[in-house]
This record gives sequence, C-alpha cells and structure tokens, in this order.
Amino acid sequence: MRFSLFFPSALVCISAVCSTPLFGQDGGELYFALPKGYGYTRSSFLARNDYEVPLRFGERLKPLSSFLRGDVVWYSLSRGTRSFFLPEPFIVRFEGGGLTEVVGNIPIGRETVDRSHPLPLFYRPDDLVPLAEEYKASGYEWRALLLREEANEAFVRMMDDAKKQGICIRVISAFRDAPYQSNLYQRAIDRYGPVQKAVAKPGHSEHQLGTTCDLTTDEIGYGLSSSFEKTVAFEWLRKNVHRYGISYSYPLYKQRITGYIYEPWHFRYWGNERWTLQSERMGLFFSR
Ligand SMILES: [Zn+2]
Repeated sequence: MRFSLFFPSALVCISAVCSTPLFGQDGGELYFALPKGYGYTRSSFLARNDYEVPLRFGERLKPLSSFLRGDVVWYSLSRGTRSFFLPEPFIVRFEGGGLTEVVGNIPIGRETVDRSHPLPLFYRPDDLVPLAEEYKASGYEWRALLLREEANEAFVRMMDDAKKQGICIRVISAFRDAPYQSNLYQRAIDRYGPVQKAVAKPGHSEHQLGTTCDLTTDEIGYGLSSSFEKTVAFEWLRKNVHRYGISYSYPLYKQRITGYIYEPWHFRYWGNERWTLQSERMGLFFSR
C-alpha cells in the first residue's frame, strides 16, 4: 500500500521535468512565445507561413490537437474559421488555469521557474529598484538594470565586499520582463534553431523574478562568456556567494537537469537564511 502511494507521485515528478505532455492530457493554456510571427500551413518548419494568421507575443492560442513529429511537439490551432500549426518551441504553455494571472509579488526564495514551470506570463514584481550606475558593467551604463529591493541590497553588498579585496564584479543583466525575454528568445532561435538551449522561453527565465543577475568582470573586458569561470572574480564568487543568499543556477554538471547550457555568469538571490547557513555548514556553495 505504501509503495503504491509513493510510486505514482515519483512518476509525475519525473515526467514533469523530462517531457511536455500533449495538450488534452491535462488541459492547459497556450500563448504565443515570439515577438511576432505567423501560423504554419503544415506541421513542418519547411512549410509555408500562413500570412493571414499573424501572431503577436502573449496572444492566447486555441488548440485543436497536438502530436509528435520527429523530436518536436506540434499543435494544430484555430482562429475563427482558420486552422494553422505551431511547434512547441513557439508556445508558452501553462498547465491548469489561472497561472497567467498576476497576484502580488512571489515571496523571494519560493519562486518556481524552470523549463517546465513558467511564471505568470506578465509577472513583474512591484518592488523593483534601479541598480546604481557604479555596479553596472562598463559599456552598460545606459541600461536600466532593475532588481527587487532585497536582491539589489544583497548583490550590492557582495560587490562592495569584493571591491574591498580588489576584485571587480559588475552586472550586465538583471530583471527582464517576458516581452523583452521574447526578443532574446527570437534571436537565439534565429541563431541556433528552434530547439536551442541557450535562452529561456519568455515566462521561463529566472531573470523575470527580479532576483537574478548576469555578472562579469574587467578581467574579461566585461563580456558574457564561459571564460568568466577562469577569472579571479569567479573564484571569489565561488567561495563567497552563499554568504549573501545568492547561488549559481546553471552549473556545468547539471546541464541535463536544468535543461540550459552552462552559464557561469548567472546568479540568483534566494534570500533564504536557513539555506545559507546549511550551505555554509555543508560546503554546498553551488547547490543549485
Ligand atoms: Zn542569466
């Protein structure tokens, strides 16, 4: 009896991480993920776009059915009397209902967002504050880098402490809303193809939490690259980041779990005192 209770929940957990259930198995809401585009006349990337079905970011889609073609799930959709097709990478999918509603700020450290779990598409915390210019990477001063107040304090405190030890750590990117993420996502698709793993879908990025930063240093000319891990700044972060309730989201050895490429520059503030103390005790500086 005991096992029969535990076994199904284990299955649900695994399938949620590894696959996209087809529409109809558990309901869900679908939204167009790209800044703009068109429906396809057939379920193939080689098919003609149906220019009479123009689509815009965040548009609610009406699914008729879904099916697997090669490695990609395709959806048959309808608008009025027209039907058209879209591949899964062009769609943000919410399981169940009501998730697209924005209800206040999500408590820091309790947000769930990854490849399988989107945030409400237009979620935007209301306590975002601008990062002071001196913490922005050289050449990015023009960018409005926003973070939730508490996260801003933690990152600033960390960068100040690093500076006292002669180490330069600066921010390249912070809060990104879903429409902005949609532009980055489109660029990654143009560059690497529709099933790319470099950039998160809108609604699926930790940057939308307002607690996440991409960091860099003068040692690599304030760039965003994996060479960051060879810098003195990164070494300092590796040893100290947990002291500020911050952790490193996409380690090299966890690519298969996170579903994203290795990103040594991507750090998230969790603000969980218990987590920080525990990490310190156990030496788990990069536990996520
Ligand atoms: Zn990032």
